Parts: sequence; structure tokens; C-alpha cells
Amino acid sequence: MSPFDLKGRVAVVTGGNGGIGLGMARGLAIAGASVAVAARDMAKSAVAVKELEALGAQAFAAEVDVSRERSVTDMVQAVVGRFGRLDILVNNAGINLRKSPEAYTLDEWRRILDTNLTGAFLCSKVVYPFMVEAGGGKIINVGSMTSLFGASFAAAYGASKGGIVQLTRAVAVAWAKDNIQVNAVLPGWIDTDLTIQARRDVPGLHDRVLARTPAGRWGKPDDLAGVAVFLASPASDFVTGVALPVDGGYSIQA
Ligand code: NDP
Repeated sequence: MSPFDLKGRVAVVTGGNGGIGLGMARGLAIAGASVAVAARDMAKSAVAVKELEALGAQAFAAEVDVSRERSVTDMVQAVVGRFGRLDILVNNAGINLRKSPEAYTLDEWRRILDTNLTGAFLCSKVVYPFMVEAGGGKIINVGSMTSLFGASFAAAYGASKGGIVQLTRAVAVAWAKDNIQVNAVLPGWIDTDLTIQARRDVPGLHDRVLARTPAGRWGKPDDLAGVAVFLASPASDFVTGVALPVDGGYSIQA
């Protein structure tokens, strides 16, 4: 059997209805997993589900606001109700607001931290008993280049993404005994709705990214598909707690 085979596995991808989340969901679907797309906008999720079904996968849209505990509990119950088990969680839902540190209101700061970091904690906590029941599991947390570097316009976002790496390490250590591997991916600059907005907000960003990326291009959501399959499959059973850049070399450029 291929070490990358995901047949019979059930994955939840938060923010899986577009961008990087949908790119990862496509990879998981092609590898044989059943995929639940978990996000707020159900109309957008319905389109993503159709796309995943066209790849031959079973797919399901589950409404969730990852920053609200009750909503996360309901979403996970709905997924387990639909598919009967849960093996893979991709904590991908994320937002950003670009401004100087002193310009954030406390509410804005909390909204970013609640979605990007607390949301990943909540989803992990709620799926844990189901992974234990399944005899193991895989959690993939989505960090960022701001997990590594400081950006003047991303104090809240960078704090949340730095936190994602430490959350990954702590949970990886805690749940190794349960055969649950927990890893982070750190995407470089990927062309999505989020970064279309960033290119509007930050003058010169598009060209600076190109100049610093050895691969010579922005990433595409499908650049995350293969790494999602690796970290969700038996191929990575002895890999845990790592933060893997998927960035065309952005983070190793001198
Ligand atoms: P998008 O804006 O395309 O996707 C964000 C996703 O998150 C959407 O599907 C959105 O769905 C969902 N989402 C937002 N808030 C919530 C919430 N409270 N509850 C549930 N779902 C939510 O951006 P990207 O694809 O670019 O971003 C995906 C992840 O990748 C984020 O964590 C981002 O920080 C990270 N990232 C992106 C990079 C890039 O260059 N694009 C680089 C590094 C990291 P809905 O609105 O329906 O809820």
C-alpha cells in the first residue's frame, strides 16, 4: 500500500472553502480521504464540496466559526455524524488586518488571535477524543513566514502565527502517546484572497516577494496539496512537532 494512501480516512479542513485550505483539501481528496470543509460561508463551502466530489471524494460542508467553542463542538459532531470517524484536522482558518501595532484596537487584536490561534487550539481540543478513538490522528497547523520573521504591519497576525508553532510543539509532545502527530506548515507568499488584499494594502509587496523568492514566483494554493498529503498520511508517522516552510525558498534566501 502507498504510504500516502488516505482511503478510509476522514479529514476536516477549517477554512477549506477557498485559498490554501481548498488547495490542501484537494490534495487530501485525491489521496482518497473524505473531506469536511469547515468555514462560515456555506454558499462558498457548497461550491468547494462540488469541486472535491468531482475529484471522486466524499465531501461535506460544515458551518463553523472557529473562534466560538460551541460552534466548533457542533461542527465536529456534524462531521463525525456524517462520516462516523475523524482522523485528520487541518487548522487553516485565518484572517489578517494590516496596520501598525499602535493602531490596533483591542477588539481587532482579539479577533485575529481568537481566529488564528485560539481557533486552532479549540479545534484540536474538540477532535482529540475522536482521534484517540480512531487509534491515532494527524493535525496540520497553518503558520506563516511571520511565524519566523517580524513584519511591521502584522503584529497581531505574527503573534498568532508564532503561537501556532509553539502550540504545534506542545500538542505534538502531549499527544505522541496517543499516536497523534502534530505538525505545522509555514506557507510563503501564496496567491489567495488574503494576499490580493495584502498587495493592495502594502505598496511594493508583489515585487519584493518575487525578488526574495528563489523559485521566482508567488505560490499557488495547490503548492500546499502534496505537503498536506504527506503530513496527513502514514508517510509522516515518525514526523511530529516540525514547522515546515513551503515557500519556494523565501525563508532561506540570504
Ligand atoms: P483566504 O482568505 O482565502 O482563506 C481564509 C479561510 O479562512 C477562508 O476559507 C475563510 O472562510 C476561513 N475563515 C476565516 N475566519 C474564519 C472563522 N472565524 N471560522 C472559520 N473559518 C474562517 O486566505 P488564505 O487561503 O491565504 O489563508 C489560509 C491560511 O493560510 C490562513 O491561516 C493564513 O493565515 C495562512 N497563510 C496564508 C498565506 C498566503 O500567502 N496566502 C501565507 C501564510 C499563511 P469563511 O470566510 O467562509 O469563514
